[in-house]
Amino acid sequence: MKIAVLPGDGIGTEIVAEAVRVLQTLDLKLEMETALVGGAAYAAYGHPLPDSTLTLAKQADAILFGAVGDWKYDTLDRPLRPEQAILGLRKNLGLFANFRPAICYEQLVGASSLKPELIAGLDILIIRELTGDIYFGQPRGRRTATDGHFPGAEEAFDTMRYSRPEIERIAHVAFQAARKRNKKVTSVDKANVLETFQFWRDVVTQVHAEYPDVELQHMYVDNAAMQLVKAPKAFDVVVTGNMFGDILSDEASMLTGSIGMLPSASLNSTNQGLYEPSHGSAPDIAGKGIANPLATILSAAMMLRFSLNQEEAAQRIEAAVQKVLQQGLRTADIYSAGTTRVSTREMGDAVVKAL
Ligand code: NAD
Repeated sequence: MKIAVLPGDGIGTEIVAEAVRVLQTLDLKLEMETALVGGAAYAAYGHPLPDSTLTLAKQADAILFGAVGDWKYDTLDRPLRPEQAILGLRKNLGLFANFRPAICYEQLVGASSLKPELIAGLDILIIRELTGDIYFGQPRGRRTATDGHFPGAEEAFDTMRYSRPEIERIAHVAFQAARKRNKKVTSVDKANVLETFQFWRDVVTQVHAEYPDVELQHMYVDNAAMQLVKAPKAFDVVVTGNMFGDILSDEASMLTGSIGMLPSASLNSTNQGLYEPSHGSAPDIAGKGIANPLATILSAAMMLRFSLNQEEAAQRIEAAVQKVLQQGLRTADIYSAGTTRVSTREMGDAVVKAL
């Protein structure tokens, strides 16, 4: 089982180091090789995704990714910015299905901005289509308007589009994931206004015919945004397009209180995947040893489950994380009175010990 380890920038190196120690504690034959990505790769090679890193990622069964980005690179031309490395990996590996679980740990119920009774026991999974939609649709650009409300004015435009196979494959992923959970899929769209999402709704409904054991609900995105904060536990699996998924998965992540706790997985059709915490490189706290490594450690558990077929090892890691929370250990982002504040390294130590 070959893992490409790409720590990236900022807190990426600190949190990935802890996840790697956790993986090394397991009794598994894991071959791990590290490479530079993002700003660190730009500084060394002049490109955020050098060929050597891309080749390593392609050859691996899975990629353990930290985070990329730093304010000092914000003035670079767009293709050279650290964040382009993620887009490059998604595109080159065909990573079209993004899994973002939003789980509220019993011990952290108080960290959410919602009332405890709304989120206690929350366990939902947002599945976002990752390679299509208005983010990638062509044509796009700036031009002088020839029609509309202000002909002759400068305007900008993007193209929202989805093809049938793109919708079908993400729908299959969602129904299959729901089968392993509570057998309910909510497909989020804007079919009342957008042609693209009426088509989305039609195709998802057709794919559903193959999954009679799974309940399918359609919901408009504006209502979904509302229901996520009104009654989040009513959801099981949510499937949606790239842009709606981008926004709703961040909203869902905040239900759980801390972004430092949330893992994610991006998979292709052969289950090769990129596993990373949902947060960024947090340059404001980088190098201080206070970042929460649990989202990355939980991403490593997802990696074992989805790409490496090691369900038991995945569950061991998840149980170890529960145990350290139970022990009252907290990094600064999830600290509250009466708990014990620990550093990134100490949190990693505690998970290793619990394993
Ligand atoms: P961020 O997620 O890095 O940070 C937002 C806030 O959350 C900060 O206050 C940060 O200190 C805190 N935080 C994040 N992760 C934490 C952790 N593990 N433990 C404790 N606190 C944590 O988002 P941002 O500040 O908007 O972006 C910073 C950089 O990260 C930018 O360059 C951005 O482009 C990049 N970014 C990268 C990814 C990625 O690599 N996938 C995702 C989002 C943002």
